[in-house]
Amino acid sequence: MTATEFDYDLLPSVRQFLRTPRRLLINGEWVEAASGETFTTEDPATAGALVDVASGGAEDVDRAVKAARQAFEEGPWAAMTPYDRGQLVHRLGDLIAEHASEFAQLEALDNGKNVAIAEAVDVALAVETFHYQAGWATKILGSTFRPSVPYAPGAQFLGMTMREPLGVVGQIIPWNFPLLMASWKLGPALATGNTVVLKPAEQTPLTALLLGELTLEAGFPPGVVNIITGFGSTAGAPLASHPDVDKVAFTGSTEVGKLILQAAAGNLKKVSLELGGKSPNVVFADADVEQAVPGAILASFFNHGQTCCAGTRLFIQNDVFDAVTDGIAAAAAQITIGPGMDPANQMGPLVSADQFERVTGYLESGYADGARALTGGKRHGDFGYFVEPTVLIETRPDMKVVREEIFGPVVCAIPFTDEDDLIRTANDSHYGLSAGVWTTDVAKAHRAAAKLKAGTVWVNSYNVFDASLPFGGYKQSGWGRENGPEVLDLYTQVKTVVVAL
Ligand code: ADP
Repeated sequence: MTATEFDYDLLPSVRQFLRTPRRLLINGEWVEAASGETFTTEDPATAGALVDVASGGAEDVDRAVKAARQAFEEGPWAAMTPYDRGQLVHRLGDLIAEHASEFAQLEALDNGKNVAIAEAVDVALAVETFHYQAGWATKILGSTFRPSVPYAPGAQFLGMTMREPLGVVGQIIPWNFPLLMASWKLGPALATGNTVVLKPAEQTPLTALLLGELTLEAGFPPGVVNIITGFGSTAGAPLASHPDVDKVAFTGSTEVGKLILQAAAGNLKKVSLELGGKSPNVVFADADVEQAVPGAILASFFNHGQTCCAGTRLFIQNDVFDAVTDGIAAAAAQITIGPGMDPANQMGPLVSADQFERVTGYLESGYADGARALTGGKRHGDFGYFVEPTVLIETRPDMKVVREEIFGPVVCAIPFTDEDDLIRTANDSHYGLSAGVWTTDVAKAHRAAAKLKAGTVWVNSYNVFDASLPFGGYKQSGWGRENGPEVLDLYTQVKTVVVAL
């Protein structure tokens, strides 16, 4: 079955977008890859082809970095006032809002997610990100002070700090929230005055390319935003290792994050990483079960479990274990599965054949180790990459399904008795991205929030995202925080200026 065999109700502009092979954005122009190579991006609901996309390589990365360097050092971007820069970033947010339905359709087609959710969540958060970051452009402040220099008695100095952009930033993003990840990366980098070479994931290049068109429409000067589509080893690796890139920002797997770090060592470029997770979501016996059950569903199955912060280790205190797992199993069985282009389908396919193999492989390993599926547990249908929402029980702490990131709709439900033991077990992971706590006891919520080693702890909630909320990982879940004021540290450096008076 191919994409066209489904009667998708596509906007004319989306049909048009899919009719033209997509190219690289370098120095304000759409160009073929130097090699002339392309790859085909597909609809994971059908495995049908969507459109051919340029497959960028080292030579293209080099051209893009040169363009970004020139735009950073000279020309209109370098001379632009923070106010004008902020206006451009804000305008980009406005343009995304104007094209919200197109973005949602392209995201649903390319990634497989529900089109209505893509518009309500991914696109809305992308718009908000640019609007929020635009405000920072005029609020990047330094400080002044009077140093007293012990070996220069009587001398007077004025010290001051300035926050300056880093320069050329390479940004490598994953396929789970393609537009939103591009926005989290581009928004702050541009608001702070950097220039960018962005590499979208090979599975989902389309919304980044539409975003690239809008950067030109918004009026960003040539070379400020460059987009190189292509594969990790041929386009991502040369960007991470490029000697004239000042910083690389990466979101993806912990394994590739380590490769990025090694590649960055050549010129010691700055690195920020948002990596994997195996997040604990804890339901205490005093929790409001009516709230905790849909909360756990959201934590485990949102975006088909393809979120780095998914609450995939669901710890449930013994007294409510059956009530919570039965509730989740009943709700999971009701989830409608099918192509994301039909908004009635609550869960779409996994993004690719590889991801499908990976998730079903983990299910097999769980069963071989003795785990049991309380609900779901296998492929859905006989085409596309659909997997049923799955709750695994009877797991042990050493099983791969409990320890490793699956990145699919699979949650392990694990009973616990004692609060202190629970904290120890929840923290027994080399990840530390996020955690959830469900309880009606406010002191217990704060105790757990303080002890859980995670970059974000959601209390009686999960997956709450906003441009103002810093997000990032403890331990091997990452370096640095995106969003909030904290992200400014990732895209600026401090210059100290001392004036003898
Ligand atoms: P996932 O496991 O979610 O697919 P990856 O970490 O493999 O995530 O990929 C995230 C991003 O990193 C993608 O854009 C991918 O192309 C890119 N990538 C993969 N391998 C490398 C690499 N060796 N160097 C740089 N980028 C890479």
